[in-house]
Amino acid sequence: MEAKELTGGSSRLRLVGVTLILIALTAAAGWGIYAAPAPVVDRMLESDLRKDAMQLSRQVESHLDDLDATFRYHELHEHDAEFLMLLPETSDIYRFKLFDASGQVFWSTRASDVGAVNTKPYFQSVVAAGSIYYNHAEKPAAEVDSIDNDPAGHAGPNTRHVAEVYTPIVRDGVFLGAIEFYSDITNLRTLFITRVRLSLALLSSVALLALATVILIVHRTNRRQMRDLHKRAVKERELMGEQLRLAREVRLLGELNEWLQSSRSLDELFDMVARFMTHILPKAEGSVYVYSNSRDVLDGCASWNGGTHKSHIHPEGCWGLRRGRTYEFGASEIDFVCEHAEPHDGRPYFCFPILAHGETVGLLHLRAAEGREACFHKSRKLAQLCAEQISMAIANVRMRDQLHDQSVRDPLTGLFNRRHMTETLRKAISRSQQTGAALSLIAVDVDHFKKFNDTHGHDAGDMVLRAVGAALEQGCDRDEIACRIGGEEFMLILPDNSPEDAMTRAEQFRQSVEAVIVRYGEKALPRITISVGVAHYPAHGTMPQDLMRAADDALYVAKDKGRNQVHVAAGALEQARRVPATGKRPSPEVA
Ligand code: GH3
Ligand code: MG
Ligand code: MG
Repeated sequence: MEAKELTGGSSRLRLVGVTLILIALTAAAGWGIYAAPAPVVDRMLESDLRKDAMQLSRQVESHLDDLDATFRYHELHEHDAEFLMLLPETSDIYRFKLFDASGQVFWSTRASDVGAVNTKPYFQSVVAAGSIYYNHAEKPAAEVDSIDNDPAGHAGPNTRHVAEVYTPIVRDGVFLGAIEFYSDITNLRTLFITRVRLSLALLSSVALLALATVILIVHRTNRRQMRDLHKRAVKERELMGEQLRLAREVRLLGELNEWLQSSRSLDELFDMVARFMTHILPKAEGSVYVYSNSRDVLDGCASWNGGTHKSHIHPEGCWGLRRGRTYEFGASEIDFVCEHAEPHDGRPYFCFPILAHGETVGLLHLRAAEGREACFHKSRKLAQLCAEQISMAIANVRMRDQLHDQSVRDPLTGLFNRRHMTETLRKAISRSQQTGAALSLIAVDVDHFKKFNDTHGHDAGDMVLRAVGAALEQGCDRDEIACRIGGEEFMLILPDNSPEDAMTRAEQFRQSVEAVIVRYGEKALPRITISVGVAHYPAHGTMPQDLMRAADDALYVAKDKGRNQVHVAAGALEQARRVPATGKRPSPEVA
């Protein structure tokens, strides 16, 4: 824009300069046309009149009977005088005089001139030396003979241009005298000057026109070239801007990808998405939804740039999710608004289904920010790339979650495994150490399970183990966890449970398992029972393995006492005394 103004400004300046030069040239030409012709014409006329005078002089010389006598002694025969008087009528002169060598007029077409003496220096220095003398002067019209016959020939109001030519009469190298011819050159001079002026005016006009045309063509060509240059510069600037924008987007997408790949949870991931999207697509409000575990609704996870998200939306209410591909509102003549986009003010928006491992896991919703509707559709490609990055990141987080789950869960029952149990127990002990909160550990073993397996088969045994696991997990409160530590053995960590509470809870677990009815095929399997051992922190140990051993020992006592019952570990001293004595059950391994 600035460059265009500059170009336009310099071009205008140049045009003004050229116009001024043209005006100056026109003025100079005008002055030349007015002033130049007169001297030129005068010189032309002088040359012609000198020749004419010479001819007339020769004519006179040849007609006079006795040239010598005429000029020396002023003798003139009658027929000579007649001839002389007729001369003005047969030529362009209106008067002429004959001078003797002393400069005295001895004959003239105007009788009053006779007797006058020419004492001017040129007569002796030029004419007497044998040269023609020419003089051109403006004279009063009254001095010109026969002026009354030609009243239209005035050069000015009362003056006429008169040429006087003195031709010397020389015989045998002796100057005899001179003849002076008067011509009224006013009309001829005016005619020539006018013609020369007209010619000059015509030539100047043609030259000026040609010059103006050349200047115009050059100016136009320059202007076109400047315009082309400007257009090219603008295009290059736009291209450069576009490339910079693309480079920035690629960089931000790369960064987004890197950050998203390193996110550990979906919450962390959506925080990153919100921050990056604000930079990558600053002209779009956005929100992201993820399918709930039940998959009947999607939960709102994050929103940015002034966008909002609902806590839940239904998949059938979104055209993108329903059709399984990107939905762009505002791109076609007929559009339908998604339920989750209500209330809707007509702004265009995108719905990108988020896919992870071929399965739709969520929705990225982007809406044009206020006042940014016009260029919103251009951001589709970039938005699509973002949606793909987010999809990949969600897939990664999910896969990581699954792998983590697999590493801490028992595949048969879905309960936590032994490794996770010992880790959790360590943390719970550490917490109780710091806060003084109560902590109980419960060990569970299915009674006569070998026999059960032998009687009903391994598959039925597995079903029973799953049912026992489910019963134990259902009985757990918020921070309590149930784990399968191996075979038909389980453990439960009960933070904030006093010995009395733990005793009650253990009894509840025992009863809930006893109440379980497992159907295997057509028949219901016989009820199963469990034996339960309870230990407390810190009474029965301050280390995970001590507590586990104490709970296990208590379980062993419950078995010993006849199974299907709960036994609380003995006091620490009593336990220390008893463990080496019994020593039948191996201590549980501690990871
Ligand atoms: P007690 O009442 O003394 O505990 O007797 P028990 O038979 O339950 O004890 P024991 O330790 O002798 O037997 C445990 C049995 O659990 C042995 C094995 O067949 C069975 N078992 C271990 N793991 C699994 C499993 O994953 N699935 C099935 N179906 N059975 C298992
Ligand atoms: Mg066992
Ligand atoms: Mg058993």
